[in-house]
Amino acid sequence: MCCLLSEFLVPALNVNNRMKRLVLLLLCSLLTACATSPTGRSQLMLISPESAIVESKKAYLSTVSELDKNDKLVNDPALSRRVATITGRLVTVAIEKFPYTAKWEWSVAIVDEPDVVNAWCMAGGRMAVYTGLFDKLHLTDAEFAQIMGHEISHALANHTAEQMSRAMATTLGVVAVGAMSDRPGIAMGGAAMAAKVAISLPNSRTAETEADTMGMELAVLAGYDPDAAVSLWEKMAAQGGGRPPEFLSTHPAPGNRETALAAMIPAMRKLNPTGKLAAVHPVQIVR
Ligand SMILES: [Zn+2]
Repeated sequence: MCCLLSEFLVPALNVNNRMKRLVLLLLCSLLTACATSPTGRSQLMLISPESAIVESKKAYLSTVSELDKNDKLVNDPALSRRVATITGRLVTVAIEKFPYTAKWEWSVAIVDEPDVVNAWCMAGGRMAVYTGLFDKLHLTDAEFAQIMGHEISHALANHTAEQMSRAMATTLGVVAVGAMSDRPGIAMGGAAMAAKVAISLPNSRTAETEADTMGMELAVLAGYDPDAAVSLWEKMAAQGGGRPPEFLSTHPAPGNRETALAAMIPAMRKLNPTGKLAAVHPVQIVR
C-alpha cells in the first residue's frame, strides 16, 4: 500500500526523509483499502467507489450549474439524439457486464466549447463531451463510440476513485507537512473538490491501457467497428500542432498505443462479428 502512496506522493513533495516517513505513516493510517481493478491491477483507494459516486454527483451538479449559468450547455436536438443513442448502446453493454451500474444516473452534458477536444465520465456514469470533439475531429459514430467506451471504462474500473485518491493524497500530504512545519493554515479540500480535480489530472498510463482495452470491448459489443480506435488516434495525433488536444493531456498515451489498439482488433471483432447494434439504454442529456 505504502509503495503505491509513495509513487504518487513523494515525488510531489520535496521534504526530508523523516518528514516523508511521517507523512506516509499518517497516510497509511488513513487508507481504507487497496482495491483491485477489473483487469487485476492493484489500485490506491483512499475513498470507496460508493463515496466517489456521491462526491462525483456533487461535483457534477456544481459543474453543470456553472455551465448552465454561462450558457454553455448545448441544446441541439440532432446532436443530443446522436450522443444519447451512441452512449446509450455503450451503457446497455456496460450494464450487462457490470449489473450494479443499472442504478447509475447515466447522463451526458454536451458542452459548447468548439476549441476543446475532450470528454470524461465520472464515477456513477455522469459524463461530459465538448463540441470541439465533433468540430475539430469530424468523428464517425464508431470513433465517438470509442471515446465514450474509453471514458465509461474509466468509471467502471473505479479510476475516478483512484484519481480522487491521488488528489486527496497530495492534499493530505500538503496538510500534513503544513501542520508539521508550523503552517497549519492550509485546509484540506473536500472530497467533492477532489472529484473535480480528478477529471483534470492525467490518468496513469496503466489506467489508460486498461480503459483502451475495456473501451474497445464495450464499443464492439455495442455494434461499432473496432477499426475506429486506430483512425480516432490518428485524428487525435494530427491535432498536435502548437496546442495538443486537452484529451491527450488527461489521457497520456502509452508510446505503443496505436500498435496495441491495432493488435487487439482481430480478437475484438470476433466478439461481435456481424456488428449487431445493442439496444439503446436511456441516457439523460443534461440541459
Ligand atoms: Zn483515458
